[in-house]
Amino acid sequence: MAKLRLLLQAPQALSAPQRRSWRMLAWINLITVVSTLLWAPALWLQGDRLGGLSYAAAGLAAAGALRVLARGRLRLCVRLTIVLTLGFVTANALWLNPPVSGLPRSAHQYLLMLGVVSTLVTRDDLPWVRYGYPALCLGLYAWLAGSHFTLHPGPPVSAAVYVWGAWFDHLMALGVILLTLHVLQTDSARPEGLAADLRQAIELHELELHYQPQVDDQGRVIGAEALLRWTHPQRGPVSPAEFVPLAERCGLMPELGAWVLREACVQLARWAGDARLRGLVLAVNVSAQQFDQPDFVPRLLALVKQHRVAPERLKIELTESALAHDLDSVIRKMQALRRHGLSLALDDFGTGFSSLSLLRRLPLDQIKIDQSFVRDMADGAQGEAIARAIVMMGLSLGMEVIAEGVETETHREALARIGCSRYQGWLFARPMPAPALLAWVHARPAPASGTGAALAAAGAAPAAPTAAAAPAVAAGAQAGA
Ligand code: C2E
Ligand code: MG
Ligand code: MG
Repeated sequence: MAKLRLLLQAPQALSAPQRRSWRMLAWINLITVVSTLLWAPALWLQGDRLGGLSYAAAGLAAAGALRVLARGRLRLCVRLTIVLTLGFVTANALWLNPPVSGLPRSAHQYLLMLGVVSTLVTRDDLPWVRYGYPALCLGLYAWLAGSHFTLHPGPPVSAAVYVWGAWFDHLMALGVILLTLHVLQTDSARPEGLAADLRQAIELHELELHYQPQVDDQGRVIGAEALLRWTHPQRGPVSPAEFVPLAERCGLMPELGAWVLREACVQLARWAGDARLRGLVLAVNVSAQQFDQPDFVPRLLALVKQHRVAPERLKIELTESALAHDLDSVIRKMQALRRHGLSLALDDFGTGFSSLSLLRRLPLDQIKIDQSFVRDMADGAQGEAIARAIVMMGLSLGMEVIAEGVETETHREALARIGCSRYQGWLFARPMPAPALLAWVHARPAPASGTGAALAAAGAAPAAPTAAAAPAVAAGAQAGA
């Protein structure tokens, strides 16, 4: 019972529209299980063996769809529910529900219901599913409503049961249609407050990307992370830690995330023309919801191709929340991206639920030590021991390890001591607009010959940067910020 209650309450990590689809699917499949459980024996006792068996099969199929949902595979459950219901209802209408004089067919009403429901639950699926499924349901509905075609000569049950069945079909189908229309109406109401402003800001392209450099232990700039910035007309700057989760809840993240990726590709294409920038790797944050889109990989690859970006210059940063659902499909997508030359980083490492065995399965190039661990390192031996364990774990799995939130030279030295040789943080530079990053990189001495022209170096930095070198680096950061 507790499991069932959990299933009817969609996971918090989903967006509001996804949670609504989840609940609708849970209820529809549950109602199907219960109603088929009632009808199957009733039909069997009436002598309609075929009807009884087909209702029992439909009940089992709905129970299977509920199991798929319980495993977190929302999209698969959507498709299964629609296809199975479509098949069952059509077969039912043709075999068990012929139109008789005075009583037209009734089972096809469920196709009208399914057409309406499928417009709601396929909203974040591929276009052929979004439009194809409702069109198929409504097309079949129209045909069955207007046609007398039947595979059975007459009603297989008594007239009384047939009349009751017709009432049941009409009321059930209309009830679900009313429920769906209510949900659609609530959804179309404009969101209030910040969510409405964010939607407008996305439409008017008022958001901006800033770039924070990443450096290695020689002080060379090896890449940058793209970070979203939004300045609200009244409230001033709003933190992405506030508006990114808001965008996820309102279902705005696919649109916003697509813009970020496009902008990042445009930037990489520009950098390709600059000798000091063309070797940098640009890391882009991708939210769990965005990564979960079925066409995320082909769309990203198309963008990379369209902007003629070298795929090895683009790194996708995922957080542990992206791994919370349907891990196999996440891993498949990660492998596909890597096959095409892109790299992958696990952001905020250590703040989620990643276990060593999970980490081993993930095709990752880099883990980013969360800034809370970097801060804790300064507070004592325990903090340092945790950070050391993370570094060792990452390196022994063949991954690069980078620390974020490196604010002081003490942080950087402590990280270097435990074997972490890549850094991002205010010690080097704050996130800045693209032109400022260009100026910042160019203001630094050119790389020494032999270190690779691609790398924008901090100058003839010593093998292990000294405390004396740090203020110069930090001063550069302030100038660029
Ligand atoms: P994140 O990806 O972990 O980004 C690092 C955050 O640490 C950034 O915060 C950055 O400005 C901040 N930071 C960098 N160096 C330091 C430092 O030395 N000290 C301190 N205290 N903070 C530092 P920001 O820009 O506020 O972004 C917060 C989060 O919002 C990001 O965390 C990321 O999860 C999310 N975010 C930002 N841009 C995007 C985006 O384009 N897409 C998605 N999906 N999420 C984004
Ligand atoms: Mg990040
Ligand atoms: Mg982070």
